[in-house]
Amino acid sequence: MKQYHIWTIGCQMNKADSEFIANYLERAGLTQTGTGEDADLVLLNSCVVREHAEVKVVNKLKSLKGLKRSRPDVTIALTGCMVDSRIDGLRDRFPWVDLFFRPQQWEVFSKWAEGRGFPGLNEREDSVPQNPPVSAYVPIMHGCDSFCSYCVVPYRRGRARSRDIDEICCQVQNLVQRGTKEVVLLGQIVDAYGDDLPSKPDLADLLAALNRIEGLLRIRFLTSHPSYMSRKLIRAVADLDKVCEHISLPIQAGDNGILKAMKRGYTAEEYGELVDHIRRTVPNVALSTDVIVGFPGETDEQFARTLEVLRQTRFDKVHIAAYSPRPETTAIRNLKDDVTPETKESRRAQAEALQNEIAAEINAAFLGQTVELLVDGQKKGKWCGRTRGDKLVFFASKAGMMGQPASVRIDKTSAFALQGTLG
Ligand code: SAM
Ligand code: SF4
Repeated sequence: MKQYHIWTIGCQMNKADSEFIANYLERAGLTQTGTGEDADLVLLNSCVVREHAEVKVVNKLKSLKGLKRSRPDVTIALTGCMVDSRIDGLRDRFPWVDLFFRPQQWEVFSKWAEGRGFPGLNEREDSVPQNPPVSAYVPIMHGCDSFCSYCVVPYRRGRARSRDIDEICCQVQNLVQRGTKEVVLLGQIVDAYGDDLPSKPDLADLLAALNRIEGLLRIRFLTSHPSYMSRKLIRAVADLDKVCEHISLPIQAGDNGILKAMKRGYTAEEYGELVDHIRRTVPNVALSTDVIVGFPGETDEQFARTLEVLRQTRFDKVHIAAYSPRPETTAIRNLKDDVTPETKESRRAQAEALQNEIAAEINAAFLGQTVELLVDGQKKGKWCGRTRGDKLVFFASKAGMMGQPASVRIDKTSAFALQGTLG
């Protein structure tokens, strides 16, 4: 077995998990290949948060049936949120898949690898690649205890489990020694970090510890839940120099009846007060959010309240999704999916058009300003990087800029990105 191919869909947590397995496979002596065709191991990391994603995974799995027939020696493995405890059902549906393991069920993958003469997975070693990215994802907790009525994640990723604070600091220290400049701390409810640990550290404590790491330039964290966002954490964002002024705070809906049916645990007014407090404490904070439209029973008036929240709050970024009934959730069991697909799509398009207008206005205010970036990539012949407020900026330079801070004067803006000239 010499070559591997990993196909990933879904959230940052899935991307982080795929990077972790890729690091392990490289350590085990395998090399990455661009397509599954010539790989000896094809691993799919799946997402089933919405039906749309699940359909893509199923199509991908079906496309691998022929590969397995022509090359029976290839190993096909499936992980991610599609894999639940009833693996037998999946085995019946996709008999050409050799290995199933639930998200982060590393012991199953490790046992499979050891059975083929490879070394076992090592959480410490494999969480730090030889050449880590400038901006690296660091999962600080797994699972979720919240059980929002529409969401399948707690059923697939299990109860919330925080990682030890020293272990996270050690991983970040090692990443920085190998070239990482920014870390993005990941958790489903990242602001509930530490609640399940005996010494009960919180996210503010972790941020303070990471802020002391020499050579690390920036720290971000996502995704925060409004009910867990403490004053202490907001203060930490304001006070700690490496922590970026950027908070991802999903509201999901602007109507209190819908929020209650979603089991989110806060009202639109409480959310508004929290945003006001964040903006008073952290000047120039960039706020992003998630919104679901077409939740069961959502009327035109209730949807209008979501639009109103977008208009009033003026988020920097909004991820908008049409409600998708998901297996096991309380919403699919108790609520009728009664908003038509056409209405869902029309509401999604309205929310998106409004948000694009707002984002274009917010970004236009950067015209003529000089912004500070951390350069983390190259696209279409230009360098790109992000501001502390998570604005994506493109600029041209003949010099190597990867991993460097840069000052860029903005001369063009859109709803999605900024362009400028190196100052
Ligand atoms: N833990 C985060 C939170 O509390 O918002 C986000 C996790 S969830 C995997 C990512 C986003 O997917 C959610 O914020 C929500 O907007 C969306 N989502 C989850 N379940 C959904 C569903 N059944 N239909 C549509 N969107 C959904
Ligand atoms: Fe899903 Fe809610 Fe947990 Fe986020 S907080 S992962 S939306 S159950």
